[in-house]
Amino acid sequence: MPDLRSVHGLLLASSGEQELRRFERHWTTADITDEELLTSDLYYFGAYQQRELYLALDPDIHWIEVNFTSQKALQSQIIGTDGKSYRKMELYREGDAVPEGSIVVEGAWDHEHCTFCMNRIDEEHIGYTSTTTYWADNWACAWCYRNSVEPHDPRPLLTNYADR
Ligand SMILES: [Zn+2]
Repeated sequence: MPDLRSVHGLLLASSGEQELRRFERHWTTADITDEELLTSDLYYFGAYQQRELYLALDPDIHWIEVNFTSQKALQSQIIGTDGKSYRKMELYREGDAVPEGSIVVEGAWDHEHCTFCMNRIDEEHIGYTSTTTYWADNWACAWCYRNSVEPHDPRPLLTNYADR
């Protein structure tokens, strides 16, 4: 809703020429009447964006600004479902165990991606990271942080990347 109240439910796909789609309301964050639902401009976020919605909306999730610096990565080889060998990189934290067959590579963890728009966050770009338990280690680029996370308004996340 324009005032950031939200309704969660299931929007069923229409079949063929149907012009109406059925919406099953599951829960709302506040009392939203059917009339409001039918007469308001609604912003639609799909199911796969739920995590992003929580991250942007929840004022209890704490974020800090980070000047990204390259860090050590744990490098290992994995065999893909196609039978080929691939290099796998994970962030290495000091004190982590190094499993057999893995090596620690200095500076190889050289970027993160914004959780919201996948924008690259590296030594050239400031980023923000969530520090609240359970939601920790999510990253936001400066645009997504200033426009959505800080004001707790997920609607700007629907802006086309080219229009930012
Ligand atoms: Zn972003």
